[in-house]
Amino acid sequence: MIIDAHVHLGEDVVFDEVNTEEELIKYYDEFDIDGGIIQPFIPRPYLEDHRKIHDRIAKFCKEQWPRKKFFGMASINPHFYPEDYYDEAKRCVKDLGFVALKITPIAHACHPSSKDAYYVYEVCRDLKVPLMIHTGNGIPFADPTSVYKGAADHPDVPVILAHAGSESFNQQARILAAKLDNVFLEPSWCGTNAVKHMIEEVGCDKILFSSDNFDQIPVELAKYRQIIKNEDDLEKVMWKNAVRIFDLKL
Ligand SMILES: [Zn+2]
Repeated sequence: MIIDAHVHLGEDVVFDEVNTEEELIKYYDEFDIDGGIIQPFIPRPYLEDHRKIHDRIAKFCKEQWPRKKFFGMASINPHFYPEDYYDEAKRCVKDLGFVALKITPIAHACHPSSKDAYYVYEVCRDLKVPLMIHTGNGIPFADPTSVYKGAADHPDVPVILAHAGSESFNQQARILAAKLDNVFLEPSWCGTNAVKHMIEEVGCDKILFSSDNFDQIPVELAKYRQIIKNEDDLEKVMWKNAVRIFDLKL
């Protein structure tokens, strides 16, 4: 079984990227990926556009089930009015079955330990879902060190560092995940050597396979298969950790 913990659908107005349902299925079939957690690309900063892409993800997850085990992750601009943020997050989790919330510091212009980010933590706590935070590109906000305060102050909220700081900041991500029980690493785009150090310092219970981008799938698969020779550990990274951390109902 393989579950991709970080994949996008839709159109991104910040990074000019587009992913379609057809592409997603094509790649997941080609590489035998059993499912994944699908989050929006960054939509225009209007509530209506956020609702639209969340609905599109929910519809796709439903259509593909049970052939592919897809789940949704909500990505909502943390600078919306708190009541709007809460209503959309609650709708995604309670009505659409989404399993997590996401902050992308560079695209949301949100420091991950700011007042508005703290509100996102509170919503995660209330809805009992983990928070994924993009790290790496987009420093200083996306430096894993910027996540430290927020994650340390909310020990009951699981925090997944998307890209684990990326290649340049993976050291900070490793320190954070080793120090805080609620911090986990999603090392897409990190090189094999960085991931090897993560495994040594943090262990396979805290690392999640993910692609982030379709074309990256074979690279991500190869790097874990190269580094992790123990089958039990490989299974944890490929899907079991995702099931445990996001409480996926397979
Ligand atoms: Zn991403």
